[in-house]
Amino acid sequence: MCSDKNSIQQNIEQINQQIRTAEQQYGRHSNSVHLLAVSKTKPIAALEQAIAAGQKRFGENYVQEGVEKIQYFSQHYNHSDLEWHFIGPIQSNKTRPIAENFDWVHSVDREKIAQRLNDQRTNDKPLQVLIQVNTSGESSKSGTDHEQVFALAKLINDLPNLTLRGLMSIPENVPDYPAQLAAFQQLAELNDSLKTHYPQIDTLSMGMSGDMQAAIEAGSTMVRIGTAIFGARG
Ligand SMILES: *Cc1c(COP(=O)(O)O)cnc(C)c1O
Repeated sequence: MCSDKNSIQQNIEQINQQIRTAEQQYGRHSNSVHLLAVSKTKPIAALEQAIAAGQKRFGENYVQEGVEKIQYFSQHYNHSDLEWHFIGPIQSNKTRPIAENFDWVHSVDREKIAQRLNDQRTNDKPLQVLIQVNTSGESSKSGTDHEQVFALAKLINDLPNLTLRGLMSIPENVPDYPAQLAAFQQLAELNDSLKTHYPQIDTLSMGMSGDMQAAIEAGSTMVRIGTAIFGARG
């Protein structure tokens, strides 16, 4: 199945090549687009194979599963260079394990969540935060509206244990390239206007296995890839 060692390693090498090629093709700086390996539902062994291929950034959607993996790798390996990103929907009663274990959170979409993550962060290093935006046409209701992004950004910027790094979105899954591109360009424009207030912002998390190319053309700096690395989820 998808746990074949060589296939995960080969997939990662191939995706990294596709990213480098797209950077050149669209006039992006080389190495400006990072690969986040989305390992939700995949076993430890699959992550070990990705690590063997040099992968360091991992994205998880489910709190309990993600924390178990983080603790496993910190106990059984000395993988202090691994970076753990929480990318799933956040319930307010689950913020503590996120704040205590993850390095990044992509899915902050309301003030209450930002405040709790700040209050519950115990590490010396601030939690790196992206605001999840509901781009127009998106079927899911997660993500904040465009108008509310600036108020949420101001709060996050004022909280000492959070560092605002940029925006994230999950546009509707459409096969049409121009439609993909238009949704991503909307988010990129919003990110540009946010940057005029918060110049330190450097991250635009957009693009998945099915729309990575359009995301890179529109300015993504972090593509979140699951299926194309680890195979379909059961
Ligand atoms: C599952 C997931 C991904 C990865 O999707 P693929 O289509 O498997 O590449 C990316 N981002 C988020 C938020 C996800 O939940």
